Amino acid sequence: MDYFHYLDGVLHAEDVPVPDIAAAVGTPFYLYSTATLKRHFQALDQSFAGMDHLTCFAVKACSNIAILRLFAGLGGGADIVSGGELYRALAAGIEPGKIVFSGVGKTRAEIRQALEAGILMFNLESAQELRVVAECATELGLVARISFRVNPDVDPQTHAYISTGLAKNKFGIPIAEALDLYRQARDPAGVEIVGVSCHIGSQLTKVSPFVDTIGKLKDFLGRLATHGITIRYLDLGGGLGIQYDQEQPPEPADYGAAVREALNDLDCTLILEPGRVIVGNAGIMVTRVLYTKTGEGGRKKFIVVDAGMNDLFRPSLYDAYHAIVPVVQGRRETTVADVVGPICETGDFLARDREVTAAEPGELLAVKSAGAYGFTMASNYNSRPRVPEVLVNDGEFHLIRRRETYEDLLRGEMIPDFLK
Ligand SMILES: *Cc1c(COP(=O)(O)O)cnc(C)c1O
Repeated sequence: MDYFHYLDGVLHAEDVPVPDIAAAVGTPFYLYSTATLKRHFQALDQSFAGMDHLTCFAVKACSNIAILRLFAGLGGGADIVSGGELYRALAAGIEPGKIVFSGVGKTRAEIRQALEAGILMFNLESAQELRVVAECATELGLVARISFRVNPDVDPQTHAYISTGLAKNKFGIPIAEALDLYRQARDPAGVEIVGVSCHIGSQLTKVSPFVDTIGKLKDFLGRLATHGITIRYLDLGGGLGIQYDQEQPPEPADYGAAVREALNDLDCTLILEPGRVIVGNAGIMVTRVLYTKTGEGGRKKFIVVDAGMNDLFRPSLYDAYHAIVPVVQGRRETTVADVVGPICETGDFLARDREVTAAEPGELLAVKSAGAYGFTMASNYNSRPRVPEVLVNDGEFHLIRRRETYEDLLRGEMIPDFLK
């Protein structure tokens, strides 16, 4: 459930008319709702109420410092995948003791940065990485709390690009080989085994892959215990899906209930790394129609808007579906069209062969479910300044990232002497 709704035919974010925001900040822009963000965070978090757990928001889904601050205030931690995300999370006020560091390619510099910050846990992905983390920690006179990310070989039944828990994916350690690694990790100075982690994929629309994973993890914990290895944290990753189109993902409460039942009296702290389920439907992208045109002898229709694949990459990257609706409704016909951006790429589209409300130049359109992997995947391709982010709260809107300028585009670039 979100707080974007029509009032007298005009789309509002909470109580704020979207056209007012467009008039103030220009288009395109991302727009988030505080009430929705809170509601989604709490729905997920409270489905584990009464159970020892920590909700670590997956920063890569939506990393604006204001939104991270909001989650910090709700008691949230962070799941990070880079030094940049660590920097953001700390700047937003997330406690280091609630940060877990995932990712298959952490550099020494990032590992040192995280050790010095005193994060909760490193989720390791290889024997080589174990060695590097142990070395870095020893050099600094610190101890790295670690888990290994095991790959349970469960099919998450999602898009191939966002499936991570299959044996053929680059992520994690095959569960059959993980015991060996845990045994290796008992010895080196500088590391302390504290957890087991996994993350099987994103946009899952069923609970059964999670339940299957928990079954395999419990087996594995039993095997660890026979080798005298006990853990304090079981990290289940993220991956719960949202409704973009017709899919019917489980409600957070159903997910929570299924996970709790499958875990059945787990004697450690459960860590969750939700991203999309919290922010996905808490944000939209607002864009303006520039032109309409027809191709193929009048048969093919295009709606050209001022947002492109550099602003919202998911349609081009995953052929992902985002609903596109007019900001101001009216009694109008629908038409089948491609909604395309200004970028010089055929792959630059927000929707293809989509039945949409006929739109005229100058009109505002809302691209829905854009809160997750929206702004965070934006780039400057075609030298387009990145768009602003706006957060609505309590009847007011706040700019939480200004539109980039042309000076921002050149920041950091230089002409070497031989060209002067
Ligand atoms: C991307 C990612 C997440 C978040 O995934 P969602 O599908 O957005 O919930 C969690 N954990 C890890 C390790 C990830 O890479």
